[in-house]
Amino acid sequence: MLLDKTIQELHKGLVNKEFSVFDIVKECYDHIEQSQRKLNAFITVVDKDAALKQAMEKDKAISSSSLLYGIPFVLKDTYVSRGIRTTCASRVLGDFISPYNATVLQKLLDAGAILIGKMNMDAWGHGATSENTDFGPVRNPWDATRVAGGSSGGCAVAIAARMAVFAIGEDTGGSIRNPAAWCNITGLKVTYGRVSRYGCIAYASSFDTVGPMAKTAEDCAVILGVIAGKDPYDATSSSNDVPDYVNIMQTKKVKNVVIGISKEFYGDGLDSDIRQAIFDAQKVFKDMGVIIKDISMPLFDYGIPVYYLIGPSETSSNLARYDGVRYGNRRDYFTEETTRRIMMGTHALSTGYYDEYYRKAQKARTLFIKEYEKMLSVCDVVLMPVTPTHATKIGEFANDPLKNLLVDVYTVSQNPVGVPSLALPCGFSQSKLPIGMQIVGKMFSEDLLFALGHQYQSRTNWHTQKPSL
Ligand code: GLN
Repeated sequence: MLLDKTIQELHKGLVNKEFSVFDIVKECYDHIEQSQRKLNAFITVVDKDAALKQAMEKDKAISSSSLLYGIPFVLKDTYVSRGIRTTCASRVLGDFISPYNATVLQKLLDAGAILIGKMNMDAWGHGATSENTDFGPVRNPWDATRVAGGSSGGCAVAIAARMAVFAIGEDTGGSIRNPAAWCNITGLKVTYGRVSRYGCIAYASSFDTVGPMAKTAEDCAVILGVIAGKDPYDATSSSNDVPDYVNIMQTKKVKNVVIGISKEFYGDGLDSDIRQAIFDAQKVFKDMGVIIKDISMPLFDYGIPVYYLIGPSETSSNLARYDGVRYGNRRDYFTEETTRRIMMGTHALSTGYYDEYYRKAQKARTLFIKEYEKMLSVCDVVLMPVTPTHATKIGEFANDPLKNLLVDVYTVSQNPVGVPSLALPCGFSQSKLPIGMQIVGKMFSEDLLFALGHQYQSRTNWHTQKPSL
């Protein structure tokens, strides 16, 4: 199957004319036809004939200018796209068509990649299961009675079910990493500012990040090399040089790199086979010459309250523009979860409560920044689970929204700080549900994360396993 290949393998095959862009795109649509009805990963599938026509055009002039030339991909439906509707999984936007492309999309199109779909998600990025959507829940390809994770659930499913070669997700507090873990794929939450947010519908502007989701760390490195960089349209995008991630990933020595493990990560609530899988992963890292070191993160438990005060505060402000005047639909079209967040955020920002909630959370955020600085001064990266449990049953949290928030315990503290984190497969539960781990690094240390991830994946085969569909 072509879709099992890495981006570099596909590129080589295209250049050597072993197969065509048409063959790859056709295989994506075959899989979409086979699995979309069951998994509900797409909100919008790009017209098949149009995509195949594009593929044939690309085949006429195969170019080795970019590794992404002729490679089909999908976008979380939070990125605006000219001529193709953008919904953010909410009825509020209706069939909104943007007059311009998000920067990330434009960069990928300029590299010759082919957009084939816009993916289902928790509306506005609010959720960890991809059930909070006006388009019906996304289902997990490993067990369709379970959720895909969220909020970039449709993206993760598209990769796991081989419906696209790669996806662009969005991570505000785990939305790339959580579905990556629950669907057995690899995903990167980038350093804040590494990739332009222009054209990404804002959830919490100071946390939002744009990042790749794919089968391997290597693929993520290829994609980041294309999408990273300064963008005049996003003042928070970084002007730091974009390193040659692929090259560094392959050559960087990881011997004597220090991985920190904190006891706070392994307390109550963590599933025993996830604990075991992370423990086994440590052995693989040790065999690579990596040093494992005990560290401590005393603030760990405060991640959820800090995130769930600042995140909803920012979202209450960002969603104020959907007032029925510009986009048509009224605010009562927001789902219950989104309404709850707008209310929480508005409350936290209101006179009389601002000091007690919002300001306090911002102070705690500064403490988190110091906490990460301290941790990452005694080790190079921190290893932790992505989620405390396996993919939950569809509807399991329907009456318990608070429990739903606790799924985010390992993924919410990185975004307020800004540090990058690579999530990758590291095992399966007894009932064959995927388990993920994440490697968190210093600001702009994506190259080291890729090197560790790539070398781990060259010694293990968790990431090559796929669901039978
Ligand atoms: N689950 C988290 C939330 O609901 C993360 C969402 C995200 O990263 N977009 O806020």
